[in-house]
Amino acid sequence: MKSMRAGLVARTSCTRHATTRRRFATSAAAATPSTESHTQTQLAPSRREKIRDAKPFSDFLTDNFRRQHDYLRISITERCNLRCLYCMPEEGVPLSPNRDLLTTPEIVMLSSSFVSQGVTKIRLTGGEPTVRSDILPLMSQIGSLRSHGLKELCITTNGISLHRKLDSMVESGLTGINLSLDTLDPWQFQIMTRRKGFEAVQKSIDRILEMNKLGAGVKLKINCVVMRGVNDREILPFVELTREKDLEIRFIEYMPFDGNKWSKGKMLGYDEMLDMIREQHPTLSKVQDHKNDTSKTWHIPGFAGRLGFITSMTHNFCGTCNRLRITSDGNLKVCLFGNAEVSLRDILRQSNNGEPIDEQAFEALKTLKTERQQNSALTGQPLGTPPNEAELLDVIGMAVKRKKAKHAGLGTLEHMKNRPMILIGHNTPPSLTGPISPRGKALLSNHFAMPTSTFSPSTRYFSTSARRLKDDDGTLKLTHVSESGAAHMVSISDKNVTSRIAKAACTVRFSESSPAPGLILSNTLKKGDVLGVARIAGIMAAKRTPDLIPLCHPIPISKVSVDLELDPAGNKVEVVATVACDGKTGVEMEALTAASMAALTVYDMCKAVDRGMVVEGLRVVLKDGGKSGRWEMD
Ligand code: SAM
Ligand code: SF4
Repeated sequence: MKSMRAGLVARTSCTRHATTRRRFATSAAAATPSTESHTQTQLAPSRREKIRDAKPFSDFLTDNFRRQHDYLRISITERCNLRCLYCMPEEGVPLSPNRDLLTTPEIVMLSSSFVSQGVTKIRLTGGEPTVRSDILPLMSQIGSLRSHGLKELCITTNGISLHRKLDSMVESGLTGINLSLDTLDPWQFQIMTRRKGFEAVQKSIDRILEMNKLGAGVKLKINCVVMRGVNDREILPFVELTREKDLEIRFIEYMPFDGNKWSKGKMLGYDEMLDMIREQHPTLSKVQDHKNDTSKTWHIPGFAGRLGFITSMTHNFCGTCNRLRITSDGNLKVCLFGNAEVSLRDILRQSNNGEPIDEQAFEALKTLKTERQQNSALTGQPLGTPPNEAELLDVIGMAVKRKKAKHAGLGTLEHMKNRPMILIGHNTPPSLTGPISPRGKALLSNHFAMPTSTFSPSTRYFSTSARRLKDDDGTLKLTHVSESGAAHMVSISDKNVTSRIAKAACTVRFSESSPAPGLILSNTLKKGDVLGVARIAGIMAAKRTPDLIPLCHPIPISKVSVDLELDPAGNKVEVVATVACDGKTGVEMEALTAASMAALTVYDMCKAVDRGMVVEGLRVVLKDGGKSGRWEMD
């Protein structure tokens, strides 16, 4: 740990070779089309920028809560050279076929369209953006959009190979780097990222600070995801870094994504982090945040740097959210924690017969556009915008208008289906709600990977009318009750067979100071492997559901999975059961039965050592397929 801190101080205070300086001086001048230096471009907006700013903000990028989205994050790869514990599983994530991913011209076209509508900041992320082989030409092309209104070009990176590419990136107009580093200890780095590379990251940080001394003006923020019991003891050493260094350390609350084994107990919240820092630095004071900052900024008087906190889990910042995301396979995502996505890639490719737009096709489209511009009054638009931009903007506008006021709360996020952070690009079916115009329906059915019928205004499971019919006189008829008032099973003979899935969850909470979590963890309970037995019990129970619940139909189950996660810190076992079938009716009763039976098995196996256990929170958290479509618990 010491080595990193000492290294940073030593290297950044020494003046490295003069050639570096000369090289950067040349690059800074080359970074802008005019003779202005890169830094000057940021400080003094060009005449064109001023004119653009005077225009009303694009309606396409404004949502129903008047949030103006001028910040676009683009994931440019699904690949990564690290395997951070909180981000992805050891074996990596399934990668999309190359053909599905956005090509460089497609990313440039999308960037051009968004900038033409008022986006002023673009951040390239991933996966690890620096592993994309053509990142430098890509950045250079996006950088050229500065003359069309782009003010900030940023990157989020793990810093492993950044030092090799940094100079060229600055030449392209890079203005900000968020560099992920969760530990200052090389050994802990290897544990948290499952790879070596600490020294390379250190080299990148040194190089950024060195270039800044030479006037590069690149804003550096270090992102540190804090996990209880893993790296929380490093909060104060990270704070210490800001004593001498002009950089911002941003502590990020650990967020749940598919496959990252999140649990509430492992998350350290904003208030707790602040308390920890305040104890050591009582003068810690709040800094005024900018309107759209997602980070809450603090400062210790006398320290050169600052501290930020990204509090997505405990204090949402949805009210001022100005971000849109494009996944590496070209889906627009209006909220990081929502699963609504629309394919912009497919719209772009319509202008190339559905094929990926490579450099050659891009050049042909640009030539076509130049000719059209010469014959019309369209001058001044970036040449990279797609020929069918109107349709693209329509779809973007519709998706933005459906952005919710805020994302779901902690309790739901925990159980919500969302791709791993690294795959902000996987095709999960969208769950848009609310009325949609016929034109919207047509466009959405073309571009979402789902039939239009799913976009019914009533996708809420419990508001579906499927089980409640009306008599001729308008009175409500209960479908599960016969003429004589007796409960009976409804006929589903006229229903279609469709693929359906349901997920249910519940919690077994142990009493305070219960020995059960420790015994489960060490697998030393007298009755044996609690979680393993409970998993099998849940699977068996799902298959027996129609025998247990009187009015339930037997259905051909195609898959049951039951996951039990022990959270010793939270003193509980979280149970999630997922059941799938190809059938005529839903599988939520099967999922509920599986979850409850797995929980009861945990109870049964632990009752000898803990009499105060509570089984709680049994609920369906997701249901998909069938007539009522996808539903997720808010
Ligand atoms: N590979 C790059 C990097 O690590 O900076 C860019 C992609 S990474 C997915 C973007 C950011 O997401 C990183 O700062 C990372 O720390 C953060 N991140 C990933 N998984 C997270 C999680 N479960 N909770 C909080 N932040 C997370
Ligand atoms: Fe890779 Fe970044 Fe995810 Fe770490 S956080 S695994 S570096 S994408």
